[in-house]
Amino acid sequence: MLIDYHTHLENGPYTMEWLQRFVDQARAAGIAEIGFTEHGHRFVAAQGIVDNDIVRGWGGQDVEAYVRLVADAKKEGWPVKLGLEMDYVPGKEKEIASFLGSYPWDYVIGSVHWDGDFALDLPVHKPEWERRGVDNVYRRYFELVRQAAKTGLFDVMGHADLVKIYGYRPSSAFDLEQEYRVTAQAFAVAGVAVEVSTAGLRRPVGEIYPAARFLAACHECGVPITLASDAHHPEDVGFAIQSAVAWVRNCGYGDLVTFTGRRPHRAPLG
Ligand SMILES: [Zn+2]
Ligand SMILES: [Zn+2]
Repeated sequence: MLIDYHTHLENGPYTMEWLQRFVDQARAAGIAEIGFTEHGHRFVAAQGIVDNDIVRGWGGQDVEAYVRLVADAKKEGWPVKLGLEMDYVPGKEKEIASFLGSYPWDYVIGSVHWDGDFALDLPVHKPEWERRGVDNVYRRYFELVRQAAKTGLFDVMGHADLVKIYGYRPSSAFDLEQEYRVTAQAFAVAGVAVEVSTAGLRRPVGEIYPAARFLAACHECGVPITLASDAHHPEDVGFAIQSAVAWVRNCGYGDLVTFTGRRPHRAPLG
């Protein structure tokens, strides 16, 4: 089967009409299940978990309305999942757990976008890369991703090498292979899946997340995968999904994992 387990409704209203455009595009792309994964920080109920001026400006949505909308789509018999993309913020584990425990998610993606007030993927923060140094940004990023997996709060690790987004590469002194191996092992120990996302193809790096050598290390450790587009508009649902399928097959994968009520289920790929 094919799935798209990372999509955002945030650029439209929480209505069946808007959601149906995503479902229609999924069907047209041969996708059997589409998961909606709104950003946790958009919801009033999760305010204060990511606590900086930029994110505060993005908030204000009603999580109850989102949960109800996806439940209504399920009642229609549409092949949808209630997901969430939750930022990992060290020190906020209790607050995250409390928010996650309040709603009937099918699965929760754990993502690292922020290190304090520094956003890896916001172009406005590009100068900060130079100040910190690329090697240090990489080192800190993978530390946070492993720490996120170990919390046990998440089912799937989102775009797990987002740090390559701009194509900045660490120096030859930096052992990226070692980061991949240790991180893949941490995923296996934590029992999380890793997301294979075509969003990286739409970013300056022009490469699927995670890198082939990272994904191969995940496969060796027995870490299951989901497939994802990170679509923020209906037309991006299932974006380049056949490239993702080829990418994961090359890394040894023949199956993927789906989730219902946070319970994983393996299914054959393709
Ligand atoms: Zn993300
Ligand atoms: Zn996302």
